[in-house]
Formats: sequence, structure tokens, C-alpha cells
Amino acid sequence: MENFETIAVRTQTERTQFLEHSTPLYLTSSYVFEDAEDMRASFAEEKERNIYSRFTNPNTSEFVEKIAKMEGAEAGYAFATGMAAVFSTLAALLSSGDHIVSARSVFGSTHGLFTKYFPKWNISHSYFNVQEPETIESLIKPETRILFAETPTNPGVDILDLEYLGEIAKKHNLLLIIDNCFATPYLQNPIKFGADLVIHSATKMIDGQGRVLGGITVGNAELIREIYLFSRNTGPALSPFNAWVLSKSLETLPVRAEKHCENALKVAEFLEAEANVEWVKYPFLKSHPQYEIAKKQMRLGGNIVAFEIKGGVEAGRKFIDHLKFCSRSANLGDTRSIVTHPASTTHSKLSREEALEAGISEGLIRVSVGLEHVDDIIADLKNALNN
Ligand SMILES: *Cc1c(COP(=O)(O)O)cnc(C)c1O
Repeated sequence: MENFETIAVRTQTERTQFLEHSTPLYLTSSYVFEDAEDMRASFAEEKERNIYSRFTNPNTSEFVEKIAKMEGAEAGYAFATGMAAVFSTLAALLSSGDHIVSARSVFGSTHGLFTKYFPKWNISHSYFNVQEPETIESLIKPETRILFAETPTNPGVDILDLEYLGEIAKKHNLLLIIDNCFATPYLQNPIKFGADLVIHSATKMIDGQGRVLGGITVGNAELIREIYLFSRNTGPALSPFNAWVLSKSLETLPVRAEKHCENALKVAEFLEAEANVEWVKYPFLKSHPQYEIAKKQMRLGGNIVAFEIKGGVEAGRKFIDHLKFCSRSANLGDTRSIVTHPASTTHSKLSREEALEAGISEGLIRVSVGLEHVDDIIADLKNALNN
């Protein structure tokens, strides 16, 4: 196939009679049929065509085709949000009595699904600690169906070995589902290492400019068919407008990702030399405990840097208060650098033990490194650190 950059720019819906250069926006909820026979054949799925935008739309199809090519996947379906993708994918494939084995370090709402909602349908889970992947096999039961993980993890930026996860999934006949949000399709392709399905929150680096929400699942065609049929009935579809925005964003993903990663590595190197910093975690820093694995499975280190500020919760809060332009916001993967302090915000409800198990220490700071000039980002962090 073509190179990544060419896929990003040249995957496009067929031109209309107006010969537009850039893909137009198809704001239409439904599509018309030539005659009764066309209508019958369309509903019988004897033809591949658009019927209703809850099922497919040219803009969402372009977005799906692009990400599928980028990830080396057979098929995909696009969702209104990343969480709609996570929920619908799991709900479509699991039945009452099934069991999930997952890394403990998953996105907060995914943790919420596993702990609050799936038990209502008798779907259970077991967590493994990302520091102890050798324990995974001991958690697998006869009713385990899915092995689920994110890498790099949020917010601790730990790395799981995708090849190892792929081998375990194969050996135990489990579906391996990877939330690849932090890496983007440009930096890491889990299907190469044995993943059956790959999920993205497109809200993050795929949009990359903090504008729209979106999600997507790509992978094995038969599994996607199940997910599609579930979603066609339950209605979590991505809007054509957001699909259009996201497909445009993908045209520049390679150049944006390169610059984000270049800036992030510089920020990580700067932090490593600072006296008020206990430790720094960035996948492409030699000091990262899983540096070799990161090098094996990622093109570059990503845009998220985690570090521990000396002085615990209070120091973390003070640091956040002294930032001049880095944003205090819950998003990540934006052109604007964003800094969060999980212990006093997103993870403040966890007990100390739970927080540590999820990789959240009291002075942990997560930086989503943006596209401002790296000298300015570093100056802002330095000033806040020295206060
Ligand atoms: C943000 C995020 C999600 C959820 O995506 P939304 O688009 O906010 O619903 C899922 N997984 C990871 C790793 C995320 O960062």
C-alpha cells in the first residue's frame, strides 16, 4: 500500500459531478432509492450503499476507510465519542457471564464501565497491574473473552508489550482489544502485533485542535460487522460534520505528530535535569523502564510526558497555579499544551491505594505537549517549577 502520508491526504470519497477538489460535507440524514427494487436490494444488503446516516454516510465512510488503512485493518465503524466506541465495541461482543481481563490503568470512564455498568449485565473483569504483565495469564478464566489494554497508559505513560499481549491472546483464544488513543495510528499499529480490534478517541490527537468529539473502532471484518449491527440499532454514530473535520485533520496527522513528539522529547529532557522533579516518564527517554519495548512498537514517543514534582499534592496544585499559558484543561492531544494534576482532579476520589495501583502518585503531573514553540513551553514549566 501507499505510504502513511499519502493515505492521510489521498483517501477520499468519489468526486461528484461538480468535480470538487476537497471532500464536500454531506449533511443529509437519509438517501433516496431509484425504485422499489433498488430499495429492496439495498435493505437486503445486496448492494453497498448509503441508506441512513445512522448506518453510513460518505463523510464517516471516508474517515473510517482512512483510519482502517492507517492501522492495517480490514474494516471499521465511527462513533460520536471515544467512549461510544469503547462501550459499543464491548457491548456488541460480550454476553452475560463473560469476563474481561484488563490493565488497571485505563481511561477513567472505561474503568467506570467495567466497575459500575457491566456488572449490571453480569459481565465481570479482572485487572492486572501494568508493572506486572506476567500476572495476566493467572487472571484468565474459562469465561474470559477479551484482553483489553491501553499503551501508553493514561496518565502514567507506562508501556505494555503488544507482542506479548498478542501471544497471550492467541494462546488463550481471547480477543485482544487495544485503545490506541495515546499513540495515534501514526505512532503505533497494534494489529501488527496481534490485536483483533483497535479503538481510538478521535477527540484527542486525531482532531488535534480541540474542536470536535469522535471515536472509532477498526479491525477484523467479522467483528466489525457485529459492532456495526449493534450500533446501527443503538445509534452511537459519528456526525457527518465531525467526520469531515476529523478526516481533514488526518491529512496533517503525520506532520503534527512529528512536531508534537519532537517538542515532547525536549520537554522530557528538560524536566529530567530539573532539581524539583523526582522523576520523568516519557517512552523515548532512555530512563523509561520500558524504553526498549517502546522503541520496538512505537515510531516516536508520543506527546504525553508524566513527571513527579517534589512536595506531593500541595506542590502539584501550586505548580498548576503558576503556569502562565499552558492550559489547565482535561483534554489532551491539542495544539495547545495542557497540564493536569490527576491527584487533585480526575483521580481525587480514589483511595491512596487505588490511586497508586492506577499509577497516580500525589505529585504526578501530566503534560500534553502542544505545538507552541518548545522554548516557550519549557520557559512556562520552568517558571512554575521554580515557584
Ligand atoms: C479520551 C479518551 C477516551 C474517551 O474518548 P472521548 O472521545 O472523550 O469519549 C478513551 N480512551 C482514552 C485513552 C482516552 O484518552
